[in-house]
Amino acid sequence: MESTKQTHQFKTEVQQILNLIINSLYSNQDIFLRELISNASDAIDKLRFKVQTEPDILGEDTEFKIKLRPDVIAQTLEISDNGIGMTHEEVMENIGTIAKSGTASFLEILKQAQNSEMLTPELIGQFGVGFYSAFMVAERITMVTRAAGAAVHEAVRWESHGDGSFTIEPAEKQTRGTSITLSLKKTDKDETDFTDEWKIKNIVRQHSDFVSYPIVMDVEKDEPIADNEIIKDKEGKPIGETTRKVVKEETLNSMNAIWSRPKDDVSDSEHEEFYKHLAHDWNPPLTRLHLKFEGTTEYNALLYIPSKAPFDLFRPERKHGIQLYCKRVFIMDDCKELIPEYLRFVKGVVDAADLNLNVSREILQQNRLVMNIRNNLVKKLLELLAQMPVAEYEKFYAEFGTVLKEGICTDHAKREKIAALARYKTTKSEGKWTGLDDYIKNMQPDQKEIFYITGDNLDALINSPHLEKLKDKDFEVLLLSDPVDEWVVQNLTEYDGKKLKSAEKGDLDLEKVDDEKKESFNALFGFIKGQLDSKVKEVKPSVRLKDSVACLSGDDMDMSAYMEKILKASGQPAPESKRVLELNMSHPVMEKINALYEKDRDNSALKDYSEMLYDLAVIAEGGKLDNASHFSKIVGELMAKGI
Ligand code: ADP
Repeated sequence: MESTKQTHQFKTEVQQILNLIINSLYSNQDIFLRELISNASDAIDKLRFKVQTEPDILGEDTEFKIKLRPDVIAQTLEISDNGIGMTHEEVMENIGTIAKSGTASFLEILKQAQNSEMLTPELIGQFGVGFYSAFMVAERITMVTRAAGAAVHEAVRWESHGDGSFTIEPAEKQTRGTSITLSLKKTDKDETDFTDEWKIKNIVRQHSDFVSYPIVMDVEKDEPIADNEIIKDKEGKPIGETTRKVVKEETLNSMNAIWSRPKDDVSDSEHEEFYKHLAHDWNPPLTRLHLKFEGTTEYNALLYIPSKAPFDLFRPERKHGIQLYCKRVFIMDDCKELIPEYLRFVKGVVDAADLNLNVSREILQQNRLVMNIRNNLVKKLLELLAQMPVAEYEKFYAEFGTVLKEGICTDHAKREKIAALARYKTTKSEGKWTGLDDYIKNMQPDQKEIFYITGDNLDALINSPHLEKLKDKDFEVLLLSDPVDEWVVQNLTEYDGKKLKSAEKGDLDLEKVDDEKKESFNALFGFIKGQLDSKVKEVKPSVRLKDSVACLSGDDMDMSAYMEKILKASGQPAPESKRVLELNMSHPVMEKINALYEKDRDNSALKDYSEMLYDLAVIAEGGKLDNASHFSKIVGELMAKGI
């Protein structure tokens, strides 16, 4: 432990964040109190957790609470808790540095957002701005903290003006926990006074009502004076006051754990407040699921689906949204064991009465009760999604569809159920979303399979030459334009007994190839294959082209062009797989080239035409030519001849 006062600099990033918070959250100043109260509540949670293994740590200070002490004259506001407190090392580690992942990702976003206009309160709100937000209202913050188990003289005093440095020194503190004193900035008359009793009460009710510990404040009240104490005149009329001022500690929050109340007792606005508190989200949730199980095991769950995807939905380090409680005692947040990755956007609370408070993450993973809850939550959530009104579901799908689809690949037991929730644009849906069930309903009588094509550009997909024959037969084709779909179709080979079939791979079985005609092209195709040997593995008559002259396809087991593109883009090694060049024997160009070949096999143009056919196939699927200028030159020459 250090024995003297030391001055330290904030990490540069901390100062940057601080300035940003101060400037951009100006109209949301109130939230500083929510942040400090939530830290205090966390500190008590942590202490209660520790008590499980070290029961003596509480001593006589057993009544948990968070106390607010405003001083109107001095213009200070103190927030104190009897939670776990911090040691000197912990203060150094937690306050003024940037070890926390939340702050680090905040910074990353800051770097991306070049101008501060993009830094909306909604964006910042996702980070839990924490302790620093107090500098919005305070010109100086003094924190005195004493860790649970430490002696009176082992406390620590931390102080800063939020101007780049802080001091830290040993201190004395009579009670366990942390007390933070804000020396408030001078305010004008019409500005908010954060020592005002009503203002404080309002903020607490609005932002911290569900905190599970009493948030208390000494409040002056008029108390009636007992009748026998009142001095009266001859006629029995009181002389002087009949009431007197007394100071009483008042609890400001309801501590109302709404998940444990009957479903119908909780209003929409209560849910909204609770959700905002839980999710640090400014937007109301899209929908919710409030469950109460009473059977061999008992538990409550209150789950919300947000209306907007958070910025970090695809970051591996992001926190899961489920908090685990046991009889209203907080056990842990970020409880991955309770909800699969593909539902990671769900926020909420699970309160399981039969769980042991000491439960560790390792134990949770094998806990039968937890697995039970998880299975049930997944089942109920999938049902909820399946029953959502179309417009609402589409809103949901636009935000979280990509994540949900991961489940098709990872949750084998629920694969069909999740697949039923996937939505796709198709060649017939006119820009609208369709599900697989509707697709099947609309299949042609002679259609056996579910056809799809993958790629990143919907326009290119819908116009893809691979679909010509399919369109001609009036078969609908799913247009899969989300990278995750490549993974989905590898896992979902069948749906409702129908095979999923790529429109760009293998034989489509649409019609028989005319053998006689094929014979007549055999020699030419052999020649072309010879010319393109390094690029294609086969040249063959097309089963899917109607109007176009050429396209590239793959064998059933080959990687699709889109998959190859995704792998390359993500820097992963993509096996250089050769593809099949399919040529349309009914196209006039093919007939002419064939005639030329029959007449003069040594004609030098044949080599150019072979390459052009390949290039046309590449262009048709939105690919890039290796030698575009050569292609352009030959086309120019041909045009000159043709026009
Ligand atoms: P966050 O709460 O999002 O982690 P803060 O900047 O608000 O970020 O707090 C940083 C850390 O400081 C907390 O994670 C906690 O470890 C510690 N801390 C803050 N307030 C308290 C408190 N009242 N008692 C104990 N520890 C605290």
